[in-house]
Amino acid sequence: MNTFGHRYTGLIEKYRDRLPVSESTSIISLGEGNTPLIKLSNLPKVLKKDVDIYVKYEGLNPTGSFKDRGMTMAVTKAVEAGSKAIICASTGNTSAAAAAYAARAGITAFVLIPDGKIAMGKLAQAMMYGAITIQIKGNFDDGMRLVKEVADHAPVTIVNSINPYRLQGQKTAAFEIVEELGRAPDYHCLPVGNAGNITAHWMGYCEMSAPDVTKVTESCALCEGHCKYACNIIGNRPKMIGYQAAGSAPFIRGAMVDNPETVATAIRIGHPQSWDRAWKVMSESGGWFDECSDETILQAQKLLAQSEGIFCEPASAASLAGAIRDIQSGKIAEGSTIVLTLTGNGLKDPDTAIGQCQGDAKMVTVGADLESVRAAILHNMS
Ligand SMILES: *Cc1c(COP(=O)(O)O)cnc(C)c1O
Repeated sequence: MNTFGHRYTGLIEKYRDRLPVSESTSIISLGEGNTPLIKLSNLPKVLKKDVDIYVKYEGLNPTGSFKDRGMTMAVTKAVEAGSKAIICASTGNTSAAAAAYAARAGITAFVLIPDGKIAMGKLAQAMMYGAITIQIKGNFDDGMRLVKEVADHAPVTIVNSINPYRLQGQKTAAFEIVEELGRAPDYHCLPVGNAGNITAHWMGYCEMSAPDVTKVTESCALCEGHCKYACNIIGNRPKMIGYQAAGSAPFIRGAMVDNPETVATAIRIGHPQSWDRAWKVMSESGGWFDECSDETILQAQKLLAQSEGIFCEPASAASLAGAIRDIQSGKIAEGSTIVLTLTGNGLKDPDTAIGQCQGDAKMVTVGADLESVRAAILHNMS
């Protein structure tokens, strides 16, 4: 069948029967979602383990992170409710997404970011999209507390993941994975900060495995129109695995952390907003939390880039760093299908990337003459 003329117009349109929107809702979209699920081909060989590893490359969303999935819903619903301004605290990616969707909707975005501890690309986005950017002399957790307080005293809608529409939008990543694999993976690994995303993915998998939550629609990509969305599509659900950076690991400590520190700034969060829900995800799915050092996170980021050609930001690489360790130890069983969410694009944080590669001898400076360049090539042929 010829599918010319069918434009992908974002995840709300695609999954509207599974999201809290009505026929009259006007959708604020930038074509988010529909990100590639890439099967790793070189890394499993290096690990010498029989596993299928897929990465869901969320860095290819319109503003470069999965936050766009939640933001299209949050801003759509804010506009529907008549809101003229949104506000969020952010380690960077939420502010980039909020700023872009607010611009698209023609409303104002206020973003609170930690002074100094934000990746350069993310700051550039908030500024360029025209958000009112408030740098606070504190961390994300301070910003989050202030946002909750100020929203009681000003006409602004909070678009952090405590906004329930955010998780509704984010659950669609699980739908896409099931559509492509034809089943749920055995394990799904994510980096965890506020734990909204791991919670949203679990919601998505649960909705696909529960026969009672759905409405019948015209088209079900999975069942080719036979059983529709009310079909109890998947028989299995994954074990959910959440990895945190060691210096910012409240779920591993079992308590809030007051001064979180990590190179993975997107998960530099000591007081997760979805604390109870994430523990529930662990007990329901049979998964676990674990931590990764900054060093292994950066190694994994580079390994993925250089062995597979996929550039994610440091926080995203926590899912790979942890998965590699758990595959090697056998905690993640051989024969499994594993999905890793790569939450954000590597271009968000060029400083960390350049800093990490500067010493590794792949960059040479030579004279601007043929002989020097030829020598540099011959010297580096492998
Ligand atoms: C927001 C974010 C996370 C953490 O997601 P939570 O829902 O807060 O757990 C991880 N990685 C990146 C790149 C992010 O932007």
